[in-house]
Amino acid sequence: MARGELIKRIGDYCSFCERKINASLAVEHILPKIHHPALRLDWNNFLLACVNCNSTKGDEDLKLGDYFWPDSDNTARAFAYSEDGLVGPAPHLTAAQKEVAERTIHLTGLHKTPTHDPAASDRRWKQRLDAWGRAEEAREDLSKNDSEITRRLIVRQATALGFWSIWMTVFASDLDMRQRFITAFEGTPGACFDARTQPVQRSGGAL
Ligand SMILES: [Zn+2]
Repeated sequence: MARGELIKRIGDYCSFCERKINASLAVEHILPKIHHPALRLDWNNFLLACVNCNSTKGDEDLKLGDYFWPDSDNTARAFAYSEDGLVGPAPHLTAAQKEVAERTIHLTGLHKTPTHDPAASDRRWKQRLDAWGRAEEAREDLSKNDSEITRRLIVRQATALGFWSIWMTVFASDLDMRQRFITAFEGTPGACFDARTQPVQRSGGAL
């Protein structure tokens, strides 16, 4: 089996916090024990993750069904993003699904803010806040100058920055932009969305 086939990379973004990460980090996550079935449980081997998500998750054994996974579930349905930089369970989930979403958020520490980490080595919350601000600015620019060029530039800015879910949230009412984000962010499965860019149940997934 080719090496590349073993790594379920979801674009060049952390599979969990969605920030852009560089190629050298990706290489660190390729582990050699490719034939060991237990690696099915090892997020690091299969999903590209940034250093914060990776280190928070750690090495403990997991029950796959206890979490939502970005390579098998439609995690676009699992979480809600807000302008305060926080990530929470999506409001439409059932109580049981919310528990799974909450557990998934804690697995990689996406609930953390600087109060959890005074040393501020974990910049994910701050980066989400920044991304939200940039997406709002872009939406404002577009409202003043709605053109194909502006739309393309916004997509370029978004893909360079990462945080797909935040761009999708801020542009919630602009289906054209949402479709562009779905198409432009490498690794976003088109089958996870309906014609109106709403996330749908993923085939074979729990969500
Ligand atoms: Zn991450």
